[in-house]
Amino acid sequence: MANLCSYGWNNQWQQLKNDLSYNELEHGRIISTHKTRYDVATTEGVLSCELTGNILYTKEPHEYPITGDWVVFQRFGELGIIIDILPRTNALSRKKSGTKASVQHFAANIHKAFIVQSCDANFNVRRTERFLIQIVDSGIIPILILTKADLGIDIDKLKQSLGKIGEKTEIFVTSIYDIESIDRLRKIINPAETFIFIGSSGVGKSSLINRLCDHQLLETSAISTSTGKGKHTSTRREIFLLESGGVLLDTPGVREFGLAVDSDDTIAETLDIDQLMGKCKFHDCTHTSEPDCAVLNAIASGDLDVGTYNSYLKLKREAMHFNETTYERRERERQFHRMVKEVIREKKSRDSSV
Ligand code: GDP
Ligand code: ZN
Repeated sequence: MANLCSYGWNNQWQQLKNDLSYNELEHGRIISTHKTRYDVATTEGVLSCELTGNILYTKEPHEYPITGDWVVFQRFGELGIIIDILPRTNALSRKKSGTKASVQHFAANIHKAFIVQSCDANFNVRRTERFLIQIVDSGIIPILILTKADLGIDIDKLKQSLGKIGEKTEIFVTSIYDIESIDRLRKIINPAETFIFIGSSGVGKSSLINRLCDHQLLETSAISTSTGKGKHTSTRREIFLLESGGVLLDTPGVREFGLAVDSDDTIAETLDIDQLMGKCKFHDCTHTSEPDCAVLNAIASGDLDVGTYNSYLKLKREAMHFNETTYERRERERQFHRMVKEVIREKKSRDSSV
């Protein structure tokens, strides 16, 4: 019988379950999703589940369960029916184009995020900022990992270039050729804690994950699940248990997470310019051209790095863009085109009447 505590089940989840109407049912954690089918880790192994009609018809698709969710379900032989979802502590979301509900959640209940950057030409302070902001905004603990330390880059200089954001997070330096560095990393993953790796392609996430899991991951993902009557289905896992404890949540979507920022406050706080902003003359200062703007003054005096400032403006523009849903943007564009056509038509009728 599998112990769901290794997946993170604890007294707090039990309390939340007690509050549900269906608290006598079994519970489990979603380890992967396939449209409307879900693989759920249960005390009896992985069970393939579907949603109850009540969830399907009363909830919006963006409220459906996602990988990492804890759910209660009813078992019907080889199949489970998910009846309810326990309230999430947090969720990663991404922009979804074309609909009014622009945010799509895709991974839930995460404790720590390892933001991975490599110590080579790929290293990018601005990208680190962006990931950091997004993680903090999601209510997840960020930890920065600088990989490929063996390539000989001056690590201290690299850390210095991070400036203030280097103080916002723990930093770990690793190399896949240095076992001790992997062990150090393993030590900060507590048993039953759910963690993710994010960062651009090529920075060394897979290599690190494989080292952390001692190559078990490949074996784990190839595990076939017995579904009772000797029938085996292969599952594509998105959640893995580390032998040393810890729950790795890994989907392609998670790895590239961090490209959309939606909170102005978190941007300013993470870049450490929120305190400056409080000192501007005008409370609605945009920090671009106003007199007595503390931010612009700090740039002039050299107290604020221009790169950080530009990054702030860029991320803020993105946040505004993000908060306007694709639906609203299309609607605005449609209205604009309608107006242009109207103007052209009026002009033509005026010209023809002259
Ligand atoms: P991912 O796309 O972030 O998952 O990156 P990968 O794990 O696939 O690694 C990309 C490349 O970097 C591969 O060729 C790895 O062998 C190499 N790599 C990963 N970690 C290290 C490291 O610590 N040192 C060096 N020198 N190369 C590494
Ligand atoms: Zn200002």
